[in-house]
Amino acid sequence: MPGTLEAGDPLPGDLEADVAIAGAGFSGLWTAYYLARRDPGLRIVVCEREIAGYGASGRNGGWCSALFPASLAKLARMSGRDGAIALQRAMHATVDEVGRVAAAEGIDCHWAKGGTVMLARSPVQVERAKAELDEAREFGFGDEDLRQLGAAEAQSLAGASRVLGGTFTPHCAAIHPARLARGLLDAVRRAGAAVYERTPVLELSPGRLVTARGTIRARHVIRATEGYTPGLPGYHRAVAPVYSLMIATEPLSEAAWESIGLAGRPTFGDLRHLIIYGQRTADGRLAFGGRGAPYHFGSSVQPSFDQVPAVFAALRRTLEELFPVVRGAQVTHHWGGPLGVPRDWCASVGLDRSTGVGWAGGYVGDGVSTTNLAGRTLADLITGTDSDITRLPWVGHRSPEWEPEPLRWLAVNAGLRVMSVADWEEARSGRPSRAAAFMGRFLGG
Ligand SMILES: Cc1cc2nc3c(=O)[nH]c(=O)nc-3n(C[C@H](O)[C@H](O)[C@H](O)COP(=O)(O)OP(=O)(O)OC[C@H]3O[C@@H](n4cnc5c(N)ncnc54)[C@H](O)[C@@H]3O)c2cc1C
Repeated sequence: MPGTLEAGDPLPGDLEADVAIAGAGFSGLWTAYYLARRDPGLRIVVCEREIAGYGASGRNGGWCSALFPASLAKLARMSGRDGAIALQRAMHATVDEVGRVAAAEGIDCHWAKGGTVMLARSPVQVERAKAELDEAREFGFGDEDLRQLGAAEAQSLAGASRVLGGTFTPHCAAIHPARLARGLLDAVRRAGAAVYERTPVLELSPGRLVTARGTIRARHVIRATEGYTPGLPGYHRAVAPVYSLMIATEPLSEAAWESIGLAGRPTFGDLRHLIIYGQRTADGRLAFGGRGAPYHFGSSVQPSFDQVPAVFAALRRTLEELFPVVRGAQVTHHWGGPLGVPRDWCASVGLDRSTGVGWAGGYVGDGVSTTNLAGRTLADLITGTDSDITRLPWVGHRSPEWEPEPLRWLAVNAGLRVMSVADWEEARSGRPSRAAAFMGRFLGG
């Protein structure tokens, strides 16, 4: 690991700043990075409750992808076809921008731009792959952005069981998330912004960030707390923290990798409803994750919620079912963390000019690169720079609030349950699940 995982100094006391940011995950760090590079005279202060990268940013699946957590069709309904296309193109460019900064700043985040292979492993999943390709074509994205894979080619890229076909996009890099987060922290400090760790933000309001260590007065105050946001006064229903959990195997043998493939380290998944995702790590492990852990009443977030033995066991079963050659390999790591899911499943970034309060978040499970676009956008908004990215459809978008409890608990957990039952039902019947389609519409996904 480059740098250290030791927490740095906390906020020394009350401060005056130009920009105060709550949360040092990728959202907060990218925002501070681009602002400090843009205007070295700005006084930028980031406050982090634990250590930078402690949240989802330091422990995700490492897909630095061009995925945005709302479909092109949905974005087009929100703000027109051109806006949807522009946002997708900006996401493509964002993958390379993350790679560019990592290289320029000397951050060894195990970057490998090998694309993504999505496997279709049942006739229903083959249909879903076709529907995704049709949508891409409808919006003018050709084979260079997303192409169909026949069974043989899909199998040669990712040697999984029961492969009938799939899709491939070149717009994804596999990364080591904690290396990127800690390396970015150093880059932010080098650029001149202050990042205080062990500094919990207690309240965020126009002109003020109140922390347990002192109050920062600033013209601009930015919320970058993602899945932890409901813990801030006034933001209880802004996002639902939904957990994603992961496992990693020991380094696998050369023989195992010959059978699995993933040469060039493309990230991989299949087209089931309850999302699974994986990568071949630089040190030869399979890191593999999925949803399915419960949402906790009142949007509660606790370290113990990262550990759900039944979900870890299900992930292991699924991984072995995908790649039987993994049977017998040790699973050496288990972890997880909260995602921020907005009520309409649409990430957003924005700045209220009248109050100076800004935000970025609601990425669901697609924040590794989207946070970079958010950081550049906030830097433009805060410095009053009119640019192409400040006109993208997610800028200034306001997601509705989640329902109060117990409705929120019922809706989110029912959604998670329906998605996993739908996969089972589809495998059994060979037909798309109507329950999943209904729940998808209800939850706005
Ligand atoms: C297991 C898992 C796998 C994932 N896989 C992928 C993937 O492969 N690709 C992808 O694109 N996305 C993935 N994601 C999602 C992605 O990691 C997130 O969308 C992204 O990291 C969000 O960054 P962030 O900075 O907005 O939030 P976080 O990284 O969660 O950062 C928020 C920070 O705010 C701090 N904080 C919270 N409250 C306070 C407070 N009151 N005071 C001070 N600090 C506070 C937290 O400690 C935390 O460090 C995954 C997420 C998880 C959990």
